[in-house]
Amino acid sequence: MVDELAIRTAARQFMAGLDLSNIHQDLSAYTKKVKAKLGKEEMDEGQSGYTLTKRDGSSVIIVNELECRERQRFSTCHEVGHIVLGLKSDHSETPSWSYSKRDENEIACDIFAAELLMPFDAFKRDVDQEEPSFVLVERLRAQYVVSFSACASRLAAVTQYPCAFVTMSSSVIRHASRSKALRDLNAWIVPKSPIPPGSVAHRLVKDGDWSGEDAAVSQDLWFQDWPKGYDLMELAKHYPTYDETFSLLWFEEDSGPDEPVKNFAGVPVEEDDGGLKELDGQLSFQKKTRRR
Ligand SMILES: [Zn+2]
Repeated sequence: MVDELAIRTAARQFMAGLDLSNIHQDLSAYTKKVKAKLGKEEMDEGQSGYTLTKRDGSSVIIVNELECRERQRFSTCHEVGHIVLGLKSDHSETPSWSYSKRDENEIACDIFAAELLMPFDAFKRDVDQEEPSFVLVERLRAQYVVSFSACASRLAAVTQYPCAFVTMSSSVIRHASRSKALRDLNAWIVPKSPIPPGSVAHRLVKDGDWSGEDAAVSQDLWFQDWPKGYDLMELAKHYPTYDETFSLLWFEEDSGPDEPVKNFAGVPVEEDDGGLKELDGQLSFQKKTRRR
């Protein structure tokens, strides 16, 4: 089991005292601190990066120049994670949502990278300016230069609204990252269950459409053993080429239950949104992208 809290703590300790004002353009604040130079080369499809470490302790981080800028930045920070955490690489072919199959070191370095790219305090301040929406996600992903799913996942985790970001592939739910407010209501999205009929995501997959939204999705479609009668905002995107679908779900003001739902079928004893603990980045309480 990946100790997510320890990784986030390590990342924030690593970032402490660094000038982060320019990281959206230039990650050298991070690479310099680990005595690494950055290089690029053409790699095979699906390969993102690796690190060569010399005897004197300096390193060269190489990323795949054929990948998009967001991915290259993620790869750079992922490799910094390998160096700081002292974790060996296992860059074998495994989709990132597949937490059960993915090497723990790789998950750890992904968590580390998300912290570096979306520094918690600044990111949360930006998220708290307004209600969740795809517009907000798009603006933040441009601002932080990260992938849509990395951004939306972190937004859902840190927002003060009851909110979830759900990653699906084919017709199955792979992972959900939930805000603290949503967890406190005992809203649980069951991993490995089918995409619920009636949801926007389900419609997009069925019709092969790219995006859609609905302000009145019944909450009990998404949440296990949930009372009927509450509406939910759902915005979904579907990528037929990759057979991937994402939904951002949230309650508008006063549209959810006031009290935590008594969830008799059981809120899982152990948090395992697909195998990870909470990805909210809030260290006082105890998250994506396709990459390697
Ligand atoms: Zn790695």
